[in-house]
Amino acid sequence: MTPPVTPPIYQNFIHGRYLANQSGERFDVINPATDDVIYQVEVADHAIQKAAIESAKAGFEIWSAMTAIERSRILLKAVELLRARNDELARIEVLDTGKPWQEAECVDVQTGADVIEYFAGLAPAQVGQQQMVGDDFYYTRKEPLGICAGIGAWNYPLQIACWKAGPALAAGNVLLFKPSEETPLGALKLAEIFIEAGVPEGVFNVVQGAAEVGQWLTAHPDIEKVSFTGEVGTGKKVMASAANTLKDVTMELGGKSPLLVFDDANVTEAVSAAMLGNFYTQGEVCTNCTRVFVQRGVYDKFIEELKTRTEQNIVAGDPLDPNVNLGALISKVHQQLVLDYINLGIKEGAKLLTGGEALSPASAPNGYFVAPTVFVDCQDDMTIVKEEIFGPVMSILVFDEEAEVIKRANNTHLGLAAGVFTQDIQRAHRVIHKLQAGICWINAYGNSPAEMPVGGYKHSGIGRENGIETLDHYTQTKSVYVGMNNIDSPF
Ligand code: NDP
Repeated sequence: MTPPVTPPIYQNFIHGRYLANQSGERFDVINPATDDVIYQVEVADHAIQKAAIESAKAGFEIWSAMTAIERSRILLKAVELLRARNDELARIEVLDTGKPWQEAECVDVQTGADVIEYFAGLAPAQVGQQQMVGDDFYYTRKEPLGICAGIGAWNYPLQIACWKAGPALAAGNVLLFKPSEETPLGALKLAEIFIEAGVPEGVFNVVQGAAEVGQWLTAHPDIEKVSFTGEVGTGKKVMASAANTLKDVTMELGGKSPLLVFDDANVTEAVSAAMLGNFYTQGEVCTNCTRVFVQRGVYDKFIEELKTRTEQNIVAGDPLDPNVNLGALISKVHQQLVLDYINLGIKEGAKLLTGGEALSPASAPNGYFVAPTVFVDCQDDMTIVKEEIFGPVMSILVFDEEAEVIKRANNTHLGLAAGVFTQDIQRAHRVIHKLQAGICWINAYGNSPAEMPVGGYKHSGIGRENGIETLDHYTQTKSVYVGMNNIDSPF
């Protein structure tokens, strides 16, 4: 008999090293494609939390005193290490999230590294202002905020850690990062890489645990900002908690984004976009276009091509197999949630074009798979059309007029993303300008380069990640007035 294999145990990463907790409390991490426990992680107990804050304070003293060029040089070294370790890190992301290797291998680590590289380049170029006021003048300094907290979701764990660390560190802050309890390893590897690159101890600490650890971060008086990625409901709790200590917040939340396909669109391209925006990362992408509005004249053609390509081109299975392009959902609970939404869609009268069930592929029979699912004949008031499902479930709706579809597309409290497919250049811009969403695409869907600011309108978020403006969200402006004459005092 072979002895049972004990899964490895990871600790919190504090002040440049792994640090054991005192409570002995741990949690399991499960590979969604196999249902196996792959490792355990120690929870950040009170001793770890205390050490994390002390470490962050010490790290901030050193890091914020460096010039932006010095910080930039070190961060660029981390970028080099991230890229050199692409495959090792991508594999971790596949095992933790269940997403296909063919995605992680070219997206997760690369787009994370891109953002750190972008902000490392940008930080030395950030300047204040100077203005004469009579003989006197003032100037402004862009100063870091201090200790920031990052709280991440489970769908792009390493990328989210990089997207928060990049601007925070480039601007001279330190970051306490809490990954999702379901995907905690990528952030620890990033912490190791930062140390190897020369980032001082305490500048990037990783604390592990579930909501309680997140709550501790949002309430802590020494933390100046929280950048949160997750569900709308959690975001509201985070913001409410952060309000007690008047923290700055960035909120990257959920969506129920519309894709508008007009009669003159290139249908094959529009189908590609709809599939990418619903089935990539097995549908677990915040910007997904889960409401696809198709104009009546092209509706039948669109649906026919979508059904054929969905049934013929999607390969579910062991996510490490490079031919697989549909992975497992993050957890059994989440799989059931998605299946419940599908059943509700059927009950509410939506017609199933394809999919609609759990899958058990031969190469990963125990994984939490859901077939790529398309509903047609959807109505605006159906639950599947209104609520974020966060799985491979697309709802198709028909429309006739431009004004009508804009109104229907905007009829939601969410506003993360939107897309338009048309060959009419004027209509494309006219319609996009009227859509209430922070991230928009014309004849494209899903691209999110480091240079482009991303974030939501309405309940989908506050603030932005990426793009030049994000650096401002990690600095505060100090105005310095300089008197050049004697003070004119009535006293
Ligand atoms: P959750 O809101 O459940 O969790 C996000 C993070 O918050 C996790 O680390 C979680 O810990 C932590 N957390 C939970 N409760 C609290 C609390 N009260 N205080 C502080 N932290 C808390 O989101 P998911 O992880 O389920 O991610 C999916 C959601 O994220 C979707 O809605 C998706 O749209 C959104 N998202 C948005 C993106 C964007 O850029 N706009 C990008 C990616 C995802 P733990 O999980 O360990 O319990």
